[in-house]
Amino acid sequence: MNERELLKKYQLALKETGIAAKGSIREYKRNCGNKSCRKCKCGERHPTHQMTYYLDGKQHSRYIGPGQLEPMRQAIANGRKVEKLLVLFGLEYLDMLKGINREQ
Ligand SMILES: [Zn+2]
Repeated sequence: MNERELLKKYQLALKETGIAAKGSIREYKRNCGNKSCRKCKCGERHPTHQMTYYLDGKQHSRYIGPGQLEPMRQAIANGRKVEKLLVLFGLEYLDMLKGINREQ
């Protein structure tokens, strides 16, 4: 396998993985601001989600709406697959540079 074939192989694998993200989803409770809300009055409050992530060494977070929760969970799961692909990509590249052929 040459460099071009190796790149093509991992580009295809990346494409098949689909939308990917890196971060973690955190659930917390918040007050809705409605003074007559029963859930807030009794202290139960409302479950809310946010994604926390690191960018250039700094931690950030973003609100995730109800309809966005499952797609973001999936994207984060795909992100783990992408991270694994990156490791394998690097190892295959190193093998290629060494002239080792591990293909079965
Ligand atoms: Zn409320």
